[in-house]
Amino acid sequence: MTTSPRIPGRRFLHSPGPTHLPDEVLDAMHRQPMDLADPRLADTIAACEAGLRRLADTEKAELFMYASNGHGAWEVVIENLLPPGSTVLIPGTGHFSDSWALQCEALGRRTIRTPWREGEPINPQDVVDVLRADRERTIVAVFVVHTDTASSVTTELDALRAAIDGADHPALFVVDAVASLGAAPLAMDAQRIDLLVGASQKGLMLPPGLGFVLVGPAAAEVARRNPAPRFYWDWGRRAGKLPYQKFCGTPPLPLLMGMEASLALLFKEGVDVVHARHRLLAGAVHAAVQAWRREGGVDFFCGTASARSVSVTAIKTAAGIDPDAIRSLARERFQVSIAGGLGPLAGRVFRIGHLGDLNAAMLLGALAGVEAAMLSLRVPFGRDGMQQAVDFLARES
Ligand SMILES: *Cc1c(COP(=O)(O)O)cnc(C)c1O
Repeated sequence: MTTSPRIPGRRFLHSPGPTHLPDEVLDAMHRQPMDLADPRLADTIAACEAGLRRLADTEKAELFMYASNGHGAWEVVIENLLPPGSTVLIPGTGHFSDSWALQCEALGRRTIRTPWREGEPINPQDVVDVLRADRERTIVAVFVVHTDTASSVTTELDALRAAIDGADHPALFVVDAVASLGAAPLAMDAQRIDLLVGASQKGLMLPPGLGFVLVGPAAAEVARRNPAPRFYWDWGRRAGKLPYQKFCGTPPLPLLMGMEASLALLFKEGVDVVHARHRLLAGAVHAAVQAWRREGGVDFFCGTASARSVSVTAIKTAAGIDPDAIRSLARERFQVSIAGGLGPLAGRVFRIGHLGDLNAAMLLGALAGVEAAMLSLRVPFGRDGMQQAVDFLARES
């Protein structure tokens, strides 16, 4: 047992996943399990299925859920869509596009990656060029990370759909919306997304452990023709009506009970209102960083203002300033948990998550904690960041 003293009050969780949980979700999860034939379980699963399809704005797609994290959901996509040895195009967005590509390669699939330009969204022309050059039409799909949580860059999905259409290529349009679903607008049918990947612990305000895919008709057909052997990840096996079939075994009951509650919260607030709240809170963070960067110690990692994510902001530090020291101090002394840099950005950035169950006061607390940590470490930053954030919130709310 550790003997650290109790810290009064709450520690603020501002990582871009896992995110803060609403009390309603905690309450819903704090229940005894049900037996697998209990009709209340079937009702909960049906509510989750209907809610996720509604959130993704689709009537055409089928939903399959997995007891897994986001990496598991990535594997679902790979195993179902891509025959061994086949090729997928993964445009570079940062750490998450690279990680998905590595997973494909480890599983014996070939990848074509376009380079990622630090802090910039995908260039649709890169996608057009690769698809046009693929005269044999061997590329099965384009895997796009909507919001790369490591670089905090969001790519416009319409431009990529147009790129695939413009190249007149039959490749499936597959989108990882793990960090954007429930935070940024997205309409699967209208934007003609063939497959959408999501996970529980970010905008959906749940603990980690539940991954899911929404599968449109074209993706379902490609999977039916894919002869690769598969079992747990095979969505074809999950088509039954019984909870035990839908989850290839016992469903993760607490997560489903939590998800029913979290989706109800999102619809009660109104999905458009939720998106507007995310834009507002992101705007306040951006206003603060805009002031901080004046003194040269820290700056936006994403230089293109229009591509900055509503979910998370990556902040790079100047040479000699350790972002992990800021992060540790913010957590240990000021009770604000933020995230560090991933992959090639390790030791170069810290990240403030601003998605999920948050309001203005929580956000201001987080910004103040980060300022206090930077001040303690003598990081040069524009001292009116908080004031700019408050002004922004007062003006735009
Ligand atoms: C978090 C995240 C993942 C991976 O999710 P895990 O649950 O950590 O495996 C995948 N893609 C994006 C965009 C993410 O933000």
